[in-house]
Amino acid sequence: MDKDVFFCLRHVCCLFPCLMHNVVILGAGTGGSIIANRLRKESRRHGLKFTISVIDPEPQHLYQPGLLFLPFGQTTLAKILKPKRRFIHKSIPVIEKAVASLDTEVKAVTLGDGSVVNYDILIIATGAKVAPEETEGLTGEGWYKNRFDFYTLDGARRLQQALANFSGGHLVVNIVDMPIKCPVAPLEFAFLADAYFQKRGIRDKVRISYVTPLDAAFTKPVAAAAFKDILDQKQIELITEFNTGRVEGNQIISWDERTVDFDLLVSIPLHNGADFVKNSDIGDDLGFVWVDNHTLQNEKHPEIFALGDATAVPASKAGSVTHFESETVADNVVRYAKKQQLLKDFDGHSNCFIETGNSRATLIDFSYEVEPLPGKFPYAGIGPLKLLKQTRMNHWGKLAFRLIYWYILLPARWLPIGRHFTMKGKYKPS
Ligand SMILES: Cc1cc2nc3c(=O)[nH]c(=O)nc-3n(C[C@H](O)[C@H](O)[C@H](O)COP(=O)(O)OP(=O)(O)OC[C@H]3O[C@@H](n4cnc5c(N)ncnc54)[C@H](O)[C@@H]3O)c2cc1C
Repeated sequence: MDKDVFFCLRHVCCLFPCLMHNVVILGAGTGGSIIANRLRKESRRHGLKFTISVIDPEPQHLYQPGLLFLPFGQTTLAKILKPKRRFIHKSIPVIEKAVASLDTEVKAVTLGDGSVVNYDILIIATGAKVAPEETEGLTGEGWYKNRFDFYTLDGARRLQQALANFSGGHLVVNIVDMPIKCPVAPLEFAFLADAYFQKRGIRDKVRISYVTPLDAAFTKPVAAAAFKDILDQKQIELITEFNTGRVEGNQIISWDERTVDFDLLVSIPLHNGADFVKNSDIGDDLGFVWVDNHTLQNEKHPEIFALGDATAVPASKAGSVTHFESETVADNVVRYAKKQQLLKDFDGHSNCFIETGNSRATLIDFSYEVEPLPGKFPYAGIGPLKLLKQTRMNHWGKLAFRLIYWYILLPARWLPIGRHFTMKGKYKPS
């Protein structure tokens, strides 16, 4: 850059310090990547001088919905694991270190190697992680022998081998407790297991049970009834209000001492947020960040925002939610920098395809206020996707979403699905 121009820019920024902001994003998964790319675009559009940097220790980006297909041999590592750096604009530095602690008073994070990064605005997108070791006995004898998870790459890969070797017996899919990422993924696993064993010609030798702490197959009644029908059609037993307390031998045992025997256990373990959140004044005991449900700003420290699985908001921990939240966070970070009133904009909008096996899937779309309802999506009257109906089109939508994720969602390109929930195309069943 020409020296005079550089001097001039520095001079302008010194005269208008409110235009300069050091924005630090923690986590470079779904939310961190989208918000970094989106904020770069938005800050330029608004003439703001943001210095954006991202911190994440992992060099690889995992497309987590792919973990559902890996155990059944229906996807490959190359399709779901790619270098993170490729999906964050090259002008944005990525520091490959873990955040160890957060000091909200001095506005700084300390990294694993002891180095300190200061911020003016902090955006937390460190997601949620599974903690199987927190359930008594789960990771003891039998872990990765006949007890698995599929929420981690390691777990999903090992489970693929175990399923291939499974010749019959009782398969139990068990959610230890809520909240979990993608609350429908365990149901999808059970549906795909049914199709998988049918294809292998041993379905009659496999009993499948779906064991959940909820009082139904899902949190909301209309979808819960629809999913119960699918479970019944597939002869998958539903066991509700089972709060897993411990695992002993080939048994899961609830806190009220009910037992379920298994030959193969697929556990969805307890979930936590990041430790640095647990040890700070901005989150709950599980490590999820307190933010306003609609602005996504921390009320105690207004320079802190969060999105995705890292938040404690009562929305699903899902990629779709993370994507919709990124639009609100980007708008509100810009407004915060310009000292304008924030938008109370995020409405809990969530949508998710649910694989039901045999090349079919169903779809849900809902918000804080409105439960998943039947109808057409995304265009009222046209669809072409159908809500709460098993169709091939939904299945192709789910498969196509992987490419949309890598090449449209993460780079924060335009998508024809609005961030706000709408009742258009939906109806309430009588
Ligand atoms: C099996 C499965 C199936 C799913 N299916 C779907 C689906 O069909 N549809 C859907 O919408 N969603 C689905 N999801 C959920 C979706 O993947 C997540 O909701 C989404 O990835 C959340 O994005 P995030 O940015 O909050 O977290 P993540 O994408 O998990 O990113 C968190 C990042 O933070 C980093 N990090 C963690 N701790 C630290 C630290 N201390 N310092 C620095 N960095 C840190 C991590 O390395 C990671 O890169 C599924 C999830 C799973 C597990």
